[in-house]
Formats: sequence, structure tokens, C-alpha cells
Amino acid sequence: MTNRFPAPDYHFSYRKAPVSGNTINGLGETSQRRARQVFHGSGARKLEWSALETFFGLTMPLQIYIRNALNRWELRKADGPLARNRTPVPDSAKMSEQLKSIARDAGAGAVGITPMTEDALYEGQTADYQSAIVIALPQDYETMRAVTTVKAAAETVDTYRDVSRIVMALAAHIRSLGWRARAYGESSDLLHIPLAINAGIGQLGKHGSVIGTEFGSNFRLASVLTDIPLTMDSEVDIGVDDLCLGCQRCTIDCPADAISDQQHLVRGKKKWYVDFDRCVMYFVKTLGCGICIEVCPWSRPGRGPSLSQTLLAKRAKRLPI
Ligand code: SF4
Ligand code: SF4
Repeated sequence: MTNRFPAPDYHFSYRKAPVSGNTINGLGETSQRRARQVFHGSGARKLEWSALETFFGLTMPLQIYIRNALNRWELRKADGPLARNRTPVPDSAKMSEQLKSIARDAGAGAVGITPMTEDALYEGQTADYQSAIVIALPQDYETMRAVTTVKAAAETVDTYRDVSRIVMALAAHIRSLGWRARAYGESSDLLHIPLAINAGIGQLGKHGSVIGTEFGSNFRLASVLTDIPLTMDSEVDIGVDDLCLGCQRCTIDCPADAISDQQHLVRGKKKWYVDFDRCVMYFVKTLGCGICIEVCPWSRPGRGPSLSQTLLAKRAKRLPI
């Protein structure tokens, strides 16, 4: 599979190099703070790496560019008017199940609910809501195995469109019950990863993406922030670290050598971290890369449940009773 990938010898030269994305991300920082936008900005301020993002947009094949633009256009419906009369919610567990079932019927592969926390917001952003409903929508595995082709990029953009449509429909439904709700389909407006982890969608893998039992990392995330009373889900432990500590699949296959075998301190928390400066150069020249996601054993369809079972059983044997 690796032979098909473009060689990692792409360069992008700034006349004056921007501050390292790893510095902006807080690599090595010992205190906790909110994340700062570094790429895929919301437009609220000019980002240090915005020239590269412009380059990314301009060099995209026209069909991908148009698909992206249409997705953004659709997202204007992320928020909307509230129904005048509020439907009471005496049973938050029942309401949670109803909303999850609406999302699943619309194609969601996994749905989780978690309290809204500050670490899901970039510096300077506000979102005054009680909770987040996080949706994971799987991508077609066979198509995605063709990363870094136009076909795979189109599948990624289309999955973003579809997951955005699910969260927009869900938010509209909640508002029709008289409760505030706003859909978030763009990673520039909300950090979906910490919410997805807290909501039990999966755990952070060495390649910096969330790994869930059923689809590995082969999915895209979107969220609804809302005030409707809901029952919260909890974090899961499916054994991701047990495998990542010994596996090197993504480390070896990452052509940019951006994935470290060690966890790092990032804004006061020790976690897996991908070197932004290395990854982004390859990412922009290969339509969004994503090799690390597709080579991960968890992403192979049907593999996750038995993998998790085996890892947890092995851990239980290692631990003293
Ligand atoms: S490829 Fe291996 S090391 Fe990388 S995220 Fe997947 S399981 Fe972890
Ligand atoms: S997306 Fe980034 S980290 Fe993942 S394989 Fe590509 S260059 Fe490496």
C-alpha cells in the first residue's frame, strides 16, 4: 500500500517561516489552556499558517473545491428559529435515546452525549450550551484505502457533508421542541475530538485521531450543542493505548515522519501528538492525506470488536488480581 503514496519530498516555502504550529498547539507547555487555531481557521482572525491554507484551497481539484464550498453554504442552516412553545422533557434518558435513534436512522455510526466543556472551544470562542451530542459517520473503507487520490478526497468531503446534514437535522428537531440547539459541522468552530472522547465515541490513538470499536478512525465527526435535558455518556476504554504502545503501523507509514512513538505534554496534558509542521506539508500537497487513519488496524471493517476484546483480556491477565 505504501508504494502508491507520493514521495514525502514536497516543500512549501515561506519567505519568512511562520511560528511553528507545534508552538501554537502548546507542545511542551506544562499548564492547561485552550487551543489556538492554527489551520482550517474560522476567519475570525488571520492565522499564522493561513497562506498555506490558501494554497491548499487553490491547488485542490475543482470538483473537491466545489464540494467544499457547497458544504459550507449548507452550513448556514446550522442554527435557526426556536419553536415558541417548549416541550417539557420529564425523562432525559428517553429523550437521549430518541435523539440517538434519529441520528442513527439518518446514518450515524456512533452517537454519544457529554457535558459541554471549555476545552472544546478555541481561545476567544464562546458557546453557552449545556451539552454536546457527538456524531461519527463512517467513510467507505475501500474508497478511503485509495488515499491520497481525488476519489478518496471526494469521499472525505462528502462524508463531512453528510454528517453535517445529520447534525443540522438533529439541531432543527431539538429547536422544534423549543430548546436551543446549534449544529457544528466544521472543525474550525469546535474541537470535536475532546467531546468525542468524553462522549464515549472512542479513545485518542497515536496518529492523533479518535479510534472507536466499530469503525476505527475511518469516520468524520460533527456535533450538536444544546440545552435540552439529556443523559450523559461516559468515556470508554477499548484498549487503544494497549495496542498503540507496541504498534508502529502509522509511525512507519506516515511519509512525513510526523507521528511520534512517545506521548507528549501538550497544554498541560500528556497525550499522543502529531507533529503539525511535518504533517501539514504533506497534507496540503496530497488532498488531505489521511494515510495514518487508513493503515491503522482498527479501521479495517469488522476488526475492532475482537481486537478490543483480545487487548482487554490480555491486560486483565497481566494485572495482579
Ligand atoms: S496504527 Fe497502530 S500505533 Fe497507529 S494509531 Fe493505529 S493502533 Fe495505534
Ligand atoms: S495525515 Fe499527517 S500524520 Fe497522517 S500519515 Fe499523513 S502526513 Fe502523516
